[in-house]
Amino acid sequence: MKYKHLLFDADNTLLDFSKGEIDTFEELGRIYNFEVNEKIMKEYHIINKKCWKDYEEGRLSQDVLRVLRFENFIKHFNLNIDSIEMEKDFTRILSTQTHVIKDTHLILDTLSKKGYQIQMITNGLAEAQYGRLKATNTEKYFLNVYVSGEMGCQKPDIEYFDKVLEDIKADNKSCLVIGDRLESDIKGAMNSNIDSVWLNLHNADLPKEYKPTYVISDLISLLDIL
Ligand SMILES: [Mg+2]
Repeated sequence: MKYKHLLFDADNTLLDFSKGEIDTFEELGRIYNFEVNEKIMKEYHIINKKCWKDYEEGRLSQDVLRVLRFENFIKHFNLNIDSIEMEKDFTRILSTQTHVIKDTHLILDTLSKKGYQIQMITNGLAEAQYGRLKATNTEKYFLNVYVSGEMGCQKPDIEYFDKVLEDIKADNKSCLVIGDRLESDIKGAMNSNIDSVWLNLHNADLPKEYKPTYVISDLISLLDIL
């Protein structure tokens, strides 16, 4: 067995964040009385993406990010909503979402039966991640869940991966990072000299600066590697 420890990202790798986010927004629309449409979601994604980029590059704390994206969203659409309340509702509703990426359960079940040590490495919000692990019944597969907000550092920083590897008492050669995001998962693995699998579900181009060890287009293809 070349790898012993599998470090899985959560959002859009195992848990279907995109579907959960849409359902969450539809519920927010009902609570706060605004229409959820393509234009609204597109704008929110631009705002949200910028906040996460600032967080991953160390310019924002996660606490600020959480509320700031809603503050900017509310301002943009000139809505009369309290951003702190909206963030609370967003996280609460998101925590109950049960959408998973195709074959998530099959993959986690198969790999754990094969004897791999499965860990979760996620930059998501602790409440939303723990809630969805429970709601999707995938909690049982993870020996540890490393949520960046609780660790004070995040992917792609070397410090984050150092802490994880130290905690599981592993060297980088025995680990494999599996994730959908080049900027956090693959870059983080590269920074820490860990092999990686890029889950490219939507057939995106791979910019030259990123060098995942493997590229797959669906989760089931992990079984060709492991
Ligand atoms: Mg992800």
